[in-house]
Amino acid sequence: MRKIQMVDLKGQYEHIKERIDTSISEVINATAFINGPEVHSLQKELEEYLDIKHVIPCANGTDALQIAMMGLGLKPGDEVITADFTFAATVEVIALLKLTPVLVDVELDSFNINPDAIRKAITPNTKAIVPVHLFGQAANMAAIMEIANEHGLYVIEDNAQGIGASYKFADGKGAKTGTIGHVSSTSFFPSKNLGCYGDGGAIFTNDDDLAHTIRGIVNHGMYKRYHHDVVGVNSRLDSIQAAVLRAKLPHLDQYNNARREAARKYNEAFKGVDRIIIPKVKGNNCETNETIICDTCNCHVFHQYTLRVVNTNRDALVKHLNAQGIPCGVYYPIPLHKQKAYMDARYDEADFPITNQLIKEVISLPMHTELDTEQIDFITKTVIDFVIQ
Ligand SMILES: *Cc1c(COP(=O)(O)O)cnc(C)c1O
Repeated sequence: MRKIQMVDLKGQYEHIKERIDTSISEVINATAFINGPEVHSLQKELEEYLDIKHVIPCANGTDALQIAMMGLGLKPGDEVITADFTFAATVEVIALLKLTPVLVDVELDSFNINPDAIRKAITPNTKAIVPVHLFGQAANMAAIMEIANEHGLYVIEDNAQGIGASYKFADGKGAKTGTIGHVSSTSFFPSKNLGCYGDGGAIFTNDDDLAHTIRGIVNHGMYKRYHHDVVGVNSRLDSIQAAVLRAKLPHLDQYNNARREAARKYNEAFKGVDRIIIPKVKGNNCETNETIICDTCNCHVFHQYTLRVVNTNRDALVKHLNAQGIPCGVYYPIPLHKQKAYMDARYDEADFPITNQLIKEVISLPMHTELDTEQIDFITKTVIDFVIQ
């Protein structure tokens, strides 16, 4: 059996080596390292793939979120509602801009932000909601957009884990995640579903004025050379990363299909095991039902394959898997409202029953485009033997 990896970037590279190597050489020969034609072409290709008017490449996914918030003109003291159960980058940029983060609980089945909790958290100071499409499944965007419209709030989608996923509204209309809110961010960190070979990120929007504002912000607030109209940042995607992304983008749907195929095999093996709760694909109005993972609707792109284990010592399971040569992860082990940097007297423990439960139960298994059946069989057997003992 091949060595099991949490993410197999080398295996994926082997299939596209020629194109990647050629593209990188071309960038070096052209010496257009920053804002070269590769970056512009990537922007156009992503706009087409996502069916969105504007893609603004930048240095990483954290910058993308920060710049989106700067572009919207959010001011210190403005409240921004986001999920308690996500990667810290989401809340970090809110705090960095001196906005007030308002963390709320998530749903037990989808791990995504709970629209009822959003409603409860709204005050006259609320300005924006940041749903995260956690682990590759869209948050409940219909409910979130409805709340936002009712209260005049911005929606900033953190699409770092969801690129390529789709969301279907009740009327059957579909849209890719990252194209539904007012503005969205994504990350091209190597292990993301569309990852480059370094850092990278992008901001998406259909709003022409906002896109213009953001294009200046990413480049020192410059709209005309050496005229600085607003305080900006330096956040650029370099041409080598753009070249890598251009080589991978045509394969993204196939990569996401491979992830779903692995998820299907995992689900099949874990079905009926009492102490294991397989990840729920909520379907979001997709024709198929909730338990089937279909390729046509792209409801879930499995950035992570995350189980809940109950009546089981999760941490002992992690140790056991590692000892058997199976890497795994706990995303996330601590709720954001309990992190030293983000604790606040405003928070009441009673408002976070689900996050507090999930941090004890979740375990993410190896998930990437190169998993084979032999590896999956070994992983599932090792997990099941441990939990049923
Ligand atoms: C990875 C990630 C980010 C940050 O992206 P970077 O490119 O690492 O800065 C933000 N939000 C979520 C949910 C992520 O998973």
